[in-house]
Amino acid sequence: MLALSAEGILPKIDYAIFADTGWEPKAVYSHLDRLEREIAKPARIPILRVTSGNIRNDALDPDRRFASMPLYILNKDGKEGMTRRQCTGEYKIKPIKKKVRELLGYPHPARIPRDVFVEQWVGISTDEFHRAKDADVRYMRNRHPLIDMGWSRSDCIRYLSSLGLADTPKSSCLGCPFHGNQQWRNIRDTSPEEWLDVVAFDAAIRQGNARANASGNRLLGQAYLHRSRVPLDEAPIDHVTAAEWAARQQNLDNRASVVEELETGVVDGCSPWACRGAEPESAQGDFGLAS
Ligand code: SF4
Repeated sequence: MLALSAEGILPKIDYAIFADTGWEPKAVYSHLDRLEREIAKPARIPILRVTSGNIRNDALDPDRRFASMPLYILNKDGKEGMTRRQCTGEYKIKPIKKKVRELLGYPHPARIPRDVFVEQWVGISTDEFHRAKDADVRYMRNRHPLIDMGWSRSDCIRYLSSLGLADTPKSSCLGCPFHGNQQWRNIRDTSPEEWLDVVAFDAAIRQGNARANASGNRLLGQAYLHRSRVPLDEAPIDHVTAAEWAARQQNLDNRASVVEELETGVVDGCSPWACRGAEPESAQGDFGLAS
């Protein structure tokens, strides 16, 4: 959408906002720098980088309040669960709303008059139109230009390729538990340093986040980044194991989509404005709480 606006195919936008969780793959930061240099700056569109902190550091810092990631939990009785996802709200939605309020001239907690709002473009394509939603605040009005143009994901890829941007990487935290095996393999096989980083993080959060442990709210089970609920460097990311097949075959209707999700990740991922229809069930309340 930034390129479409810069090229005059869509109207000129005032700003583009990137919510930085502090833990994106290096490829995403380089890509963002390139977009800024080659597309945004020449078109005089400022890219505003906003942040609520570094999600990786916050999870491991006993002194920081941490908004939990959707981790896979294995309880002592063998039952599986997930922690509630709070990170998208904290690390993406919150800093974007804060910046929008500033741009409107009504920083929190100022009351924003009814007729003051931004038009916010959300890049959802026609193949995922069900994710298009209204904003949850009056001062933001969502529009979905790609849907208005009738553009599918393939149209977007074709357009990006025509601009020499065929290698646009997917934005998400390096260690997001929503990754599918494909993404984990990609990190392992193309970026050894980042692989070591996610493996170390996975080991570090096994007993829950640092703040919860420090305050005595220990996790009763163990937490993992991979849905197989084994340490990431031992997880079956190269293929779906027989055990996984067997477990998933209990629900034949769901089998194809579950296997696809194992491979490519949670379909709706972490888009701040198109939250998934069904949030993962909380295994034990908030991440780290044993009560
Ligand atoms: S990419 Fe994953 S870990 Fe990062 S904020 Fe989104 S859901 Fe949370």
